This record gives sequence, structure tokens and C-alpha cells, in this order.
Amino acid sequence: MRLLFIGPPGAGKGTQADLVAERLGIPHISTGEMFRDNVARGTELGRQVEAIMAAGEYVPDEITCAMLGERVREGDASEGFVLDGFPRTIAQVAALDELLGDEGLDTVVVFEVDEEELIERMLARGRADDTEDTIRNRFAVYREQTQPLLDVFDERGITVPVDGTGEIEEITDRVVSALGAS
Ligand code: ADP
Repeated sequence: MRLLFIGPPGAGKGTQADLVAERLGIPHISTGEMFRDNVARGTELGRQVEAIMAAGEYVPDEITCAMLGERVREGDASEGFVLDGFPRTIAQVAALDELLGDEGLDTVVVFEVDEEELIERMLARGRADDTEDTIRNRFAVYREQTQPLLDVFDERGITVPVDGTGEIEEITDRVVSALGAS
């Protein structure tokens, strides 16, 4: 099972990716978490990306794709994975296609949540990149750079929409049944 969870900032992809990956016994791979971990540990990579993340911009594709490529080649990802937050640009889709070869993604779960609710959730979450200005910028970047990916995956016939509002468990059930039906 090679899954991608996609949706606007704050849509709960990370929470759901964690829960669904555990149910399926496959790793949850989050580029955002990998970057945050590097920032926290003060690595060279962390120093490169810290200011970019704080501004709500995307880390350059070259850096992101190299990091992701290494992670996906690890042994625990051979039976599948839940990708969360990658790919986010058209160039990243091309890189992922190349990495996965003929057996591409099986299903792309698209989280749908109203933008007003998202802003409220993110302000409540209080992460370093969750200030109001940064949030606004992340939405703009998402619309411009990531939303077009939905058409690409729609054309491949692998997207399933999931309503991302409600209780966490309820949403997990929706995702799992959407996966069963896809
Ligand atoms: P959210 O989905 O809530 O916006 P993430 O944890 O997925 O948060 O990502 C946090 C930040 O990490 C992004 O705003 C961006 O700066 C960086 N990032 C994560 N994944 C990518 C990616 N695939 N390409 C570029 N930047 C990324």
C-alpha cells in the first residue's frame, strides 16, 4: 500500500497518517516532521530549512527530494508507506514517479476541510510556524503550488475525497473505509 495524504495546511493529515499507518502496519513518512526533527537537533539540514519553514515557504525541491528519496529507500518502506506532505510541487511528483517506477502510488486521500476551521485549528495548535501571517502565507503557497497536484492525481484516477471535519476517530474510520472501497 503506497498512500499519499494530501490537503491544505492544518487539515489533520499528520494525525490521520499516524493512525492509519499504524492500523496498516506501514511507516508514516512526513517531510514536515523530518524537517522539524532536523531543526530540533540543530543539524546542517535543520539550519538550512529553519527560516524557510518559519516564513511558511516551501523548502527547495532539491533538498526535499533528496531527503525523501533516502527515507523511501529504507527497508521498512519496502511494503508500503503513508506519505504525508510530499509531494507538494509538480517537480516533486516527477521525482516521486521516478523513485517509485512502475508501481506508483495506489491511492491519494484528499482531506477536505473549510478554510475558516483550519485557521482556528492551527492557531490553537501553536506550532512555531503557526502564527497568523505564516498561516496566511502557507495557504497561498498551498493554493499556488500544491492544489494543481490534485488534478494530476485525479487524471490518474487514484484520488479519494475524505471529509476532514469531526472527531479524530470518526475521520480515521472514513479514511479506512475510503481505502477499502478504492
Ligand atoms: P502542514 O501540512 O501543517 O503545513 P507540514 O508538517 O507538512 O505542515 O510542513 C511544515 C513545513 O515544512 C512546510 O510549511 C514547509 O516549509 C516544509 N515542508 C514540508 N514538506 C515539504 C515539501 N514536500 N516541500 C517543501 N517544503 C516542505
